[in-house]
Amino acid sequence: MRNLTDALESIRRLPLAALPTPLTRLTRLEAEWGYERIYCKRDDMTGLGPGGNKIRSLEFLLGEALAQNADTILVAGPLQSNLCTLAACACAKLGLRCITVHNGDRPERTEGNLLLNRLLETEAHYVGPVDSAMRNAYADELRRSLTREGKRPYLIENGGTSGMGALGYVAFCVELLEQTRELGIPIRSVFATGGNGGVATGLVYGNALLGCPFEINIVSVESSREELEQDILRTIGQVERVLGLDFNCKLKEVCNLIDEYRGEGWGVNTAESEEMVRRFPQMEGIFIENVYTSKVLVGMEAWIRENRVQGDACYLHTGGFGSLFAQY
Ligand SMILES: *Cc1c(COP(=O)(O)O)cnc(C)c1O
Repeated sequence: MRNLTDALESIRRLPLAALPTPLTRLTRLEAEWGYERIYCKRDDMTGLGPGGNKIRSLEFLLGEALAQNADTILVAGPLQSNLCTLAACACAKLGLRCITVHNGDRPERTEGNLLLNRLLETEAHYVGPVDSAMRNAYADELRRSLTREGKRPYLIENGGTSGMGALGYVAFCVELLEQTRELGIPIRSVFATGGNGGVATGLVYGNALLGCPFEINIVSVESSREELEQDILRTIGQVERVLGLDFNCKLKEVCNLIDEYRGEGWGVNTAESEEMVRRFPQMEGIFIENVYTSKVLVGMEAWIRENRVQGDACYLHTGGFGSLFAQY
């Protein structure tokens, strides 16, 4: 623990999130699923804007931006990007200029996260219906033109998934371990979403360096197991370089990568995930959304019902509340 916390403390981190996030018991869900103890780690309550996991990444990414004397934060994502909105909120708090770049057309009516961006009066660029590689190319061109104007831009893309961005969930592992010890809650199994793999990387790496107090289960919402594995391994390599501590584990031995519940992939509901978006808040009063947080619960339910989970289980709620209002 000392090695890891010392390494983390050597990296500049801005105190943006309200930490530790609550750890609450889901008693009605337990009754429904017939399982003794299920907790929710409320990373939908990270304290800025609509909340969510990206605030943890931004503590490190924007720490690096300020260390580099950046004066403009460029952030690229889809229209309903949680990263873009949370970056815009963090920039508001820090008094930094924020520019968002979206692949999609400028909508006639701003909904969900785009409404929040509008209220923040964040400068937005709409690149039209192109893929994320084209959007990133546009963002990079914008970065270069800002540099030519004498600005100091810092670019965040791909959900903030990088060696630096993944530190948010490395630090999360230390937080969860301390919190479970303080509260006397012996959490064993953690379920979290796998998108670009930033959260997964932080969890897998942080947990491994702490001696594996938790069993990490990643439910993919997008990629196949093999693709997600490659994404995680690549980002682990980047984290190793940032922190200077080797992972020294076989990925397969320190996490379960689950890809059976992603359906047609990113942003496409399955019948089960669509039902979960209603059922979960009806039981617990906590809202989830369609893209990420519902599919991980569907996977978690299946694993619990198939008796594949042991000990106290924890659902990591990664947020996405802002996007929910554009999904119906
Ligand atoms: C970005 C995001 C994730 C996935 O994080 P990755 O690091 O891309 O795997 C999960 N949930 C929500 C709400 C997100 O915004």
